Amino acid sequence: MKALNISCKKAAEYMCKKEEGSLGFWQNFQLSYHLLVCGLCRIFKQQDQWLKDNICKVDEHCKGCLSEEDKKAILEKLR
Ligand SMILES: [Zn+2]
Repeated sequence: MKALNISCKKAAEYMCKKEEGSLGFWQNFQLSYHLLVCGLCRIFKQQDQWLKDNICKVDEHCKGCLSEEDKKAILEKLR
């Protein structure tokens, strides 16, 4: 059985894929589940424009790695 839990890194990657319309059924399911359990990624998802501008670009540069610092920076912005 495939793991239902995915990392935030993976979730960001899937959100990008979803934007491109290339997310598979199971991946979509994993992403939905991750968004249920991970408040931080829910915030990312609400920041649609930010997501398009940043995560997808980050993905190009370092294969979807979103550092803890990046996350903190976003949370700071939202405060
Ligand atoms: Zn997450």
